[in-house]
Amino acid sequence: MNISGIVKSSLIDYPGLISCVLFVPGCNYNCFYCHNRSLIDGSHILLTPQSVTDFLQKRAGLLDGVVISGGEPTLQGGLIPFLKRVRDLGYRIKVDTNGSRPDIVAALLESGLCDYVAVDYKAPAEWYPAICGQGADAGQVLKTIQLLSESPLPFEVRTTVIPQLGREELTRMAKEIPASPRYVLNRYRVPDRYLPADESKVLERACSPEELQALADWITPWQPNVTI
Ligand code: SF4
Repeated sequence: MNISGIVKSSLIDYPGLISCVLFVPGCNYNCFYCHNRSLIDGSHILLTPQSVTDFLQKRAGLLDGVVISGGEPTLQGGLIPFLKRVRDLGYRIKVDTNGSRPDIVAALLESGLCDYVAVDYKAPAEWYPAICGQGADAGQVLKTIQLLSESPLPFEVRTTVIPQLGREELTRMAKEIPASPRYVLNRYRVPDRYLPADESKVLERACSPEELQALADWITPWQPNVTI
């Protein structure tokens, strides 16, 4: 299990809990608006396993939860044994995923080592290769969301409302997935680093907070638990 970075304390990454966030390197997607480009292009650092363990041991009892984010956590071979060690320290555990590996999410659910999952639904299904890179298969993500919908585990679906998503696209997306217990629309922010070829997509005008709220209101018939 590789860890490339830690946010030591966060009030916003695990709903209702004070958590730290651990970032794993590597991703099987290449979203043009990725905010963690160093984690996906190999320019990241690796923290020593001992330094991560020391940190988690020191904060045990002070923080409620640990969020495993990335990058894409389900690509990490040692994920489940690592979660077991985190759980043994008394933490609640949230995993953020792009949803591309439903088999691993199923194993996570079975392990009982995860308390909350956040899964991204990034674009209308047919747009996935254009938004997330060739080979990105929305069918796998839809399987993950379906799995979570059938599980008692709390979860949320998240969409970053990139400039290319308007009312029509969000309506399609809201209909493509089952009604979620929590569906979060995140405001788009221009990433610090992006590929030169993506500049026009990255710099397209994104919606204002008021427009984002209007989009949330619009999709409420299909996603009644939408929030921004
Ligand atoms: S799935 Fe997340 S980490 Fe991977 S490329 Fe997309 S935004 Fe970046």
